[in-house]
Amino acid sequence: MGDAVERDADAEARERAARRDEAVRAAVEQGLLGPDAAVVGLLDVTGIRRSAAALRAAFDTAVPPGTPVLHAFAVKATPLVPVLRLLHEAGLGAEVASPGELALARAAGVPAGRTVLDAPAKTPAELREALALGIAVNADNPQELDRLDALVHTGSTRSPLGLRVNPQLGGGSIRATSTATATSKFGVPLRDEGARDWVVRAFLARPWLTRLHAHTGSQGIPLPLLARGVAETYALAEEINARAGRRQVDTLDIGGGLSVDFASEAAEPTYAQYARALADRVPGLFDGRYGLVTEFGRSLMARHGTVVARVEYAKSAGGRRIAVTHAGVQVATRTVYAPEAWPLRIAAYDAEGHPKRGPEVVQDVAGPACFAGDLLAEGRALPALEQGDHVAALDTGAYYFAHHYAYNSLARPGIYGFAPDGAGGVALTVVREPQTVAEVVAESGGAHTAALTALGAPGSR
Ligand SMILES: *Cc1c(COP(=O)(O)O)cnc(C)c1O
Repeated sequence: MGDAVERDADAEARERAARRDEAVRAAVEQGLLGPDAAVVGLLDVTGIRRSAAALRAAFDTAVPPGTPVLHAFAVKATPLVPVLRLLHEAGLGAEVASPGELALARAAGVPAGRTVLDAPAKTPAELREALALGIAVNADNPQELDRLDALVHTGSTRSPLGLRVNPQLGGGSIRATSTATATSKFGVPLRDEGARDWVVRAFLARPWLTRLHAHTGSQGIPLPLLARGVAETYALAEEINARAGRRQVDTLDIGGGLSVDFASEAAEPTYAQYARALADRVPGLFDGRYGLVTEFGRSLMARHGTVVARVEYAKSAGGRRIAVTHAGVQVATRTVYAPEAWPLRIAAYDAEGHPKRGPEVVQDVAGPACFAGDLLAEGRALPALEQGDHVAALDTGAYYFAHHYAYNSLARPGIYGFAPDGAGGVALTVVREPQTVAEVVAESGGAHTAALTALGAPGSR
């Protein structure tokens, strides 16, 4: 069976690469990518639909029919309204963590009943809005629970309410994405002295508190550690329910966090493997007594996005070839600032958008920003890149081009979705317009040119 799964994964990866190649060529042919639009983001609609279906299937086969399961896509991974709409139509909901993300989910038509609000710093106004809308809220800490007390007592709400806990199991290979360390800023730290008892009493005192939430971490957290985080949450729910003498906790929100292999096309771990690991480690999780919420982000979207940029110049320095491209820190911030933790595979295409062949040479792939570290890849073996060629940064569908960083006032690139056009070609559609330079000026205080010179000037008060 393992072999069959691997063959499927290999075939899937080959198909994905073929779809991407066609999309790059189509973007060049259709003029979306060229001298006047030197960098774009591309999203593979077919791939996104398949990942959403694989996630649903993995859990549907694990739970008894009728068990409520909500897969709330972590909006921060790809905060784009058309993506949220596509995932909504594929049967997913939304996990939001700011007023902006909530507004995006609402603009996409994700109903309140399929939206979950988690955030470490929710204001009273945000909490009030969420409860008025009926959105599920996971409180982060005792002070937030006090605020919910006040809101629940002053009005009725349909919002399912929960508490986020930190199982304090330790981190993974990337510190910044490890949320279950002893000193993580998220949730109630369960292993601190007296904390577990406090949580149980907090639930017993609040009959309306019905959910437990834990997100053990993101990229770099090994699957067994994720499963242990879920096991701890489940055990706590059982303890609370035993003490309450009823099924007070009726839903477990198990977070997201499945890693993506950015160094290869390897599909593991898959959602099916994760669900099987959970079934082994926490059998009671899937017996139908608990509704489930998941919050996957990166594992749903990363593989389905590509940044493609023109090579503006090809030069050499100190014996090293350097391709100077239009994709750098503004679209691949984490990779540029922390290349060891966030490596990206690079594919080479020629000026027409065909995969570039030829002997490989070691070269740097540099971005357009004015600092020496602005490199997409350093010392990478690729076919020799020339002026007018293109480079593609692969697996950038989550936490990359949708997370623009405005260094050097570089404009946000256009983002296009692609899918077969039904006639043997590729249809491309606008997901986000490229930002204009006029918009850059406007959001950089362009309407307030004299604001500072007028301050304290002679004749002013
Ligand atoms: C970031 C985040 C997620 C999504 O994590 P991925 O690694 O992208 O799957 C889910 N839940 C919470 C609370 C998060 O902060």
